[in-house]
Amino acid sequence: MTAATFDPVESVVVSLPMTTRFRGITTREVLLVRGPAGWSEWGPFLDYTGDELVPWWQACVAWATEPAPTPVRATVPVNCTIPAVGPERAYEMAQVSGCRTAKIKIAEPGQTEADDLARIEAVRDALGPDGRLRVDANAAWDVDEAERRLRRLAREDLEYVEQPCPEVTELAELRRRLARGGVDIAIAADESIRRSADPLRVAELEAADVAVLKVQPLGGVRACLELAERIGLPVVVSSALETSVGLAAGVALAAALPDLPYACGLNTAALFTADVATAPLLAVDGELPVGRVEPDLELITTLTAPADRQQFWRERLAATRRLEGTT
Ligand SMILES: [Mg+2]
Repeated sequence: MTAATFDPVESVVVSLPMTTRFRGITTREVLLVRGPAGWSEWGPFLDYTGDELVPWWQACVAWATEPAPTPVRATVPVNCTIPAVGPERAYEMAQVSGCRTAKIKIAEPGQTEADDLARIEAVRDALGPDGRLRVDANAAWDVDEAERRLRRLAREDLEYVEQPCPEVTELAELRRRLARGGVDIAIAADESIRRSADPLRVAELEAADVAVLKVQPLGGVRACLELAERIGLPVVVSSALETSVGLAAGVALAAALPDLPYACGLNTAALFTADVATAPLLAVDGELPVGRVEPDLELITTLTAPADRQQFWRERLAATRRLEGTT
C-alpha cells in the first residue's frame, strides 16, 4: 500500500495540553489515524507547509500499515527535554525525569546568555556528576555569534550543541573555525537534516558530528534507517512532539539502529499533561520500552479537538495528499 492509496479505518484530531510552552505552543494537536498495522499519527509542525508536509504523511501511513523493523535492543535510553524555563523549574524537570542525560533548550528569543548558563548549571546540579548534558539552539545564531557562544559553552562539558546556525554551510564554516581555534565542542544537525531537500549534505560538507533524525519529517522509520546508513554519522533519534502513539515509531527506529551511542530525544510525552494512551511512553530509569502503543478510546474522546480544528487538520491533510499525488 502506498501513502497515495491509504484509506484510514478511522481518524481523529486530538489536542494535548502541555506543561510548559515549547516550540511556541501550549497545546499540541495531531491527527491520529488507524490502519491495518495499528494506530499512527500525523502531526506536522504548524510552520511546515506545502511539499514539506508530504514525508510526514508518508511516515504516518508507513507506521499505520507496516510492521516495525526488527529491534536489536529491548529498551532505548532517552534524555529528558528541558524547555527554556527558569533554573528552578529546569532543576525540577531534570530531577523528576529519572534520565541520566538532558537536552536543554538555549538561545530562546528574549533570553540572555546568562539565562542559558543558569539553566545549564541547574540541570547539571539536578543530574549530578554522572549526568550528561547537551543543548539545542534551534538555529538561533549566525556563524560569528555561534562561535562566540560556543567558545563559552565549550567549558560546560556538553555532548554536543544542536543546530547552532540555520544553514548547513554555516555549520560547516563554524566547525572549521572551531577546529582552527582549538575549541572542542561537537555539533549536531537537526533542522539541517529534517528541513533539507538533501539531508546528506550535512555529511558531504562535514557540517556536523552527530545526526538528529526524526521519523515524521524524514518519511518514516525505514526511510530513517536507510538515511542513517548513508549519512555515516552517529544518530540521535528525536521526537517531533508526538503523542505516545507516534513516539513508539521513534523508539522502533532507535531500537533498530545497529549503533546507538547517545540517549535519544524521545521522552517528550513528559511535556504533556495528558496523553492518548493509558500508559504513556515515559522513561523509567532513563529508558523507554520498544513496542507499538495503542491509544485508549476514552482518552481520545476526552482529548478530541474542537470541530474547527478537526476541519483545519483534515483540509491540511487533503492538500498534502493532493501534493503527494503530483510529486
Ligand atoms: Mg532540535
